Amino acid sequence: MIPVKGYNGQKVAVLGLGRSGLATAAALTEGGAEPLLWDDSPEARAKAEGEGFTLTDLTRHAALEGVACLVTSPGIPHLYPAPNPIIARALELGIPVDNDIGLFFQSAAGDEWAEMETPPKVVAVTGSNGKSTTTALIHHILEAAGKPTQMAGNIGKGVLSIDPPQDGEVVVLELSSYQTELARALTPDVAVFTNLSPDHLDRHGGMGGYFAAKARLFTMGGPDRAVIGVDEVEGRFLAGVLAQGPQDDRVIRISATQKLDDFGWSVFARKGFLAEWRKGRQVASIDLREVKGLPGAHNHQNACAAYAACRTLGVAPKLIEGALHSFAGLPHRSQLVGERAGVRFVNDSKATNVDSAAKALQAFPKIRWIAGGLGKEGGIAALKPVLGSVVKAYFIGHSARDFALQIGETPHEICETMERAVSRAAEEAQAGEVVLLAPAAASFDQYPNFEKRGEDFTARVQALIGG
Ligand code: ADP
Repeated sequence: MIPVKGYNGQKVAVLGLGRSGLATAAALTEGGAEPLLWDDSPEARAKAEGEGFTLTDLTRHAALEGVACLVTSPGIPHLYPAPNPIIARALELGIPVDNDIGLFFQSAAGDEWAEMETPPKVVAVTGSNGKSTTTALIHHILEAAGKPTQMAGNIGKGVLSIDPPQDGEVVVLELSSYQTELARALTPDVAVFTNLSPDHLDRHGGMGGYFAAKARLFTMGGPDRAVIGVDEVEGRFLAGVLAQGPQDDRVIRISATQKLDDFGWSVFARKGFLAEWRKGRQVASIDLREVKGLPGAHNHQNACAAYAACRTLGVAPKLIEGALHSFAGLPHRSQLVGERAGVRFVNDSKATNVDSAAKALQAFPKIRWIAGGLGKEGGIAALKPVLGSVVKAYFIGHSARDFALQIGETPHEICETMERAVSRAAEEAQAGEVVLLAPAAASFDQYPNFEKRGEDFTARVQALIGG
């Protein structure tokens, strides 16, 4: 645990008692503060009490008087579409509002860091898509390089739950826009921006607010190195804001589509090859086509981002190449779960919307596509341009018939259940094809969440092919 600094002997209100809220409460107590805990949900309150925490009703008008700071959870709106009433009250009283990420950056560095040979570093990853994959990949490469490392944030543990970093350690954090928007301290040594596409716009008051929330990770503290995806105008703009000029190698530009050979430092992937360029010269290249855990141009973008972040930490290209090959992929994101007679089975259950399903459908040349569930607004008509790779679709769940009506001439079959879809697709698949779960729909009609859906797919594949 990282004890929270700066509030010794003071009251700190904690709103939201999920995993990160309770970890924050414990870390505040450890740092000598008195946390006042509340959650608007009676279930969350009961659970916290069950774990031995004491509650304070923060909805009472006077409850925040004398409080030094209000710490909130990412799921609670503080501005748009409307601030939670407790946060609105804190703002009225002029009480600072922060989150666990801000407390982490304020507290992580200790006096003992000055005595260390190599003080710990923090790498923070943000962006619309690929955050988890990039974060896990950086962590995996550092492990392969023999560096002590921990991973936390939006992935895995809450940031305040990690062990105090040791000599030479690298902490890798995945940060969502909800987290970067609010944190009062954001001082990573290396910051990574993968890409930007519209998401969570109601919470950020539109695209400008969403981009501004992510840009704070780069502009609040000024990281030593910034790794920035420049395939959208926002990334190009951010790189331009941070760099003195194109040759400034504190900014490493990355791309999954363009050759970037005129910059101080760049990493890009084209036609399946990753290339690193410095000051007009290529310094390294990696063949990504045989990297099984990272299929598709979207994953090549993630590979570029992770490669660049690890290069800033002194890891050699050859070592990174080996680690890319041993990366198993994250569960439910383009995850290879089995192979039989030249047919690969891939679980992308996290592809819950049209955008991420489109990326998955472009990652393989011949696909037996399992899709459907609780369809989203707009349906899947937008996928038509990327259906060329689909040999046949096998639709499941609530939206099965609806999806079938939206895919034109593409051959399809209504299967209703995962069991039937997997067995039909496996039966018909030819060598060289991929049986891909990329639902383009939420899972809630048949499963509690996308993880359970992916686990069901994996279990059925393994039952069929032995695994
Ligand atoms: P995040 O943590 O940002 O949600 P994940 O790594 O969990 O990202 O991937 C979420 C979904 O987006 C998956 O379906 C995955 O296949 C797809 N995806 C992964 N990386 C990218 C990328 N760089 N660009 C677009 N889509 C991606």
